[in-house]
Amino acid sequence: MKKILVQKYGGTSVGTIDRIKAVAERVIASYNEGHHVVVVVSAMSGQTDQLIAMAHKISNQPDEREMDMLMATGEQITIALLAMAIQERGYPAVSMTGFQANIITDKAHTKARIMDIPTEKLKNELEKGKIVIVAGFQGVTETGDITTLGRGGSDTSAVALAAVLKADVCEIYTDVDGVFTTDPNVVPEARKIDRISYDEMLEMASLGAKVLQIRSVEFAMNYGVTIHVRSSFNNTPGTIVTREEADMEHVVVRGVTYSKNEVKLTVMGVPDRPGIAATIFNSLAGANIIVDMIIQNISEQGLADISFTVPQNESQKALQVIKGLVKEKLGARQIICDDKISKVSVIGIGMKSHSGVAAKMFDTLANEGINILMISTSEIAISCAIESKYTELAVRALHDAFGLDKQVS
Ligand code: ADP
Ligand code: ASP
Ligand code: MG
Repeated sequence: MKKILVQKYGGTSVGTIDRIKAVAERVIASYNEGHHVVVVVSAMSGQTDQLIAMAHKISNQPDEREMDMLMATGEQITIALLAMAIQERGYPAVSMTGFQANIITDKAHTKARIMDIPTEKLKNELEKGKIVIVAGFQGVTETGDITTLGRGGSDTSAVALAAVLKADVCEIYTDVDGVFTTDPNVVPEARKIDRISYDEMLEMASLGAKVLQIRSVEFAMNYGVTIHVRSSFNNTPGTIVTREEADMEHVVVRGVTYSKNEVKLTVMGVPDRPGIAATIFNSLAGANIIVDMIIQNISEQGLADISFTVPQNESQKALQVIKGLVKEKLGARQIICDDKISKVSVIGIGMKSHSGVAAKMFDTLANEGINILMISTSEIAISCAIESKYTELAVRALHDAFGLDKQVS
C-alpha cells in the first residue's frame, strides 16, 4: 500500500473560498507525489464562535447534546466545499462527516474523547484512489449521537486518524510558521522552534499555546505519531513534534505561554476538616469540570478558604455545582467569582536539571509590578496566575528575561 499522509487545515487556512481553493491545490500536489491523502478540515475561521454566539442568544446554558449538533455543522460546510474544489480540478475526492468516517467517541458532549476509529471505510475510499476529506472536531457515540471534541479539536481528529492509519507524519497546517517560543502574535521577537519533545509540547498546549490541542499531543505521544506544524501560506519547514532527543535538555526554558480564559472561584469559610476538599473536587469532577490551580488558606477560627481556577466556559457550571454543595453540605460563608485571571507559564525539559527558573520568573514579574495570585509547578513548567490586564506585559517580559529571542533551539 502507498504511504498515507494526513494533513489538517485550520480555520484561517480554509477561511475564505480563495483559501479553500489554495488548500485544494496543496492537497493535489501531495496526491500527485504518490501518497494516499486524508485531509482533516476545521470550520471557516470565526464560524464556530458564531454558532456558539447564536446558541447563547437563546440560552445561557444550552443543552450540550444540541450544542454539539450545532457546532458540528461548521466543519460540514468546509469538507463539502474542499471536496468540490478538488473535484473541480479533475481529481477524485470524497467528504465524510465524523459519523461517516466512524470516529467513535465517548458521550462527554462538547469535549468528547475518541475511543476508536474502525478504518475499513476510510481505507476503501483511499484504495479507490480518492482523496478523503474528513470533518475535524466531531465524532459520534456508539448510540449515534453527534459529539464534538472541544475547541481546537480538529488537531486531535487529524492525529487520531494518523495514528489508526499508521501515517508516517501528521501535517498540521495553520496560520503561523510552526510552534514558536511564545505566541508570535503577542511577541514579534518570538522564534520558531525546529524540534520540540512531546512532553514540552504537551505542557505548552495545556498551558495555553493553542497552536495544538492538548489531546492531539497526547495521542501523538501515545501512538508515536510525528507531528509537523507548518504554515498553509508558504512552503517553509515548520516544527517537528517528536520524542525527546539527547540535546533537548540543554535548553532550560523552551517557551512562554499564557491562558486568558480562566476564572478563579473562591469558596470562603469552609470548615477546616478532612473531606471538605474531596467533596468539592469530587463534585466538580462528577460534572466533568476540569480544575486547574488550587490553593487553600487556613484562617484562625477553624475555617478555610479554597480557591481554584476553571476554564471560563465552565465557570457557570462550576458555580452551580458549588452553590449546590454550599446549601447541602459545605456550610461555606460566601463564594467569590473573579473572572479576570490569566495564567502565564514558562516551560522546558531542561528545568529538570537546572535550578533558579522559578526565582527568575518571580523576579521578572515583580520588576514589572505584577502581583502573583497563585503559583503551580510541574517537573517541566512553572505557572503564575495574574490579573488579566497584565498578560501581554508578563509574556513579553518573561520571553525577554529568559533570552528566548536569542536562544538556539
Ligand atoms: P488553526 O485555526 O489553524 O487551528 P489556531 O488559531 O488554533 O489555528 O492556532 C494558531 C494560533 O496559535 C496562532 O495564530 C498563534 O496566535 C497561536 N499561538 C499561541 N501560542 C503559540 C505558539 N507558542 N506558537 C505558535 N502559535 C501560537
Ligand atoms: N472549529 C473548531 C473550533 O473552532 C475546531 C477546530 O478548529 O479545531 O474550535
Ligand atoms: Mg486550532
